Amino acid sequence: MANNERATCLVVGGGPAGMVLGLLMARAGVEVTVLEKHADFLRDFRGDTVHASTLTLLDELGLGERFAAMPHRILDRVQVQLDSGSVQVGDMSRLPGAHQHIALVAPFDLNIIVYQGRLQHQHALAVPPGAVIHEDEDAFVMVAGADNKAHRRKVTLGLTTPKLAEITSGVKAGENVIVQGQQGLPDGADIAPAK
Ligand SMILES: Cc1cc2nc3c(=O)[nH]c(=O)nc-3n(C[C@H](O)[C@H](O)[C@H](O)COP(=O)(O)OP(=O)(O)OC[C@H]3O[C@@H](n4cnc5c(N)ncnc54)[C@H](O)[C@@H]3O)c2cc1C
Repeated sequence: MANNERATCLVVGGGPAGMVLGLLMARAGVEVTVLEKHADFLRDFRGDTVHASTLTLLDELGLGERFAAMPHRILDRVQVQLDSGSVQVGDMSRLPGAHQHIALVAPFDLNIIVYQGRLQHQHALAVPPGAVIHEDEDAFVMVAGADNKAHRRKVTLGLTTPKLAEITSGVKAGENVIVQGQQGLPDGADIAPAK
């Protein structure tokens, strides 16, 4: 952390708890910094076994697809070999929830996926929060079209801070989002850029 970096919240410790807390707070718009005394993940690893409940947690964090794309093996039952034959001692098919298995991943990969969950926002599209129109659960912006009309666009918001609202879908780089006078502007209204 640079000496002049500012944050409204510090989380000390970048283990699973600290990293997920940092991710959730950042998504909620809190300026948060996670302090970790180690510079990397290259030490005794503790995340090769990813339990069904952890897989559900990754889904809830929006990291499930990223996890599924990682090389991993699935363990859905456990058997032991006795002299009398093979005996099943564990069966995860009756676990509640979306995942009825344990995933086995290579050392360090799970740590890194949570870290990337934060970093994936580095090259984000963002607008001033005031440009976003909230209606019930939905968020919209008004895009100034080349046809000199305002176009109402439903968007998905990512990280939001007091100064910026990240847009993860609904607007492309290079499009002009109207940041003043957009409240109450009807879809398709004629507009003229301010001089
Ligand atoms: C050998 C072993 C294997 C395990 N394998 C698995 C597994 O396969 N699957 C599974 O689900 N769980 C596993 N666990 C359990 C899992 O590791 C813990 O549940 C988990 O790490 C707890 O997360 P945490 O964030 O609370 O704490 P920690 O992971 O201990 O994180 C705390 C972090 O704080 C940092 N820190 C400490 N003091 C400071 C300081 N003063 N300043 C800055 N940073 C600091 C530490 O470096 C550390 O990174 C294993 C545990 C052990 C011991």
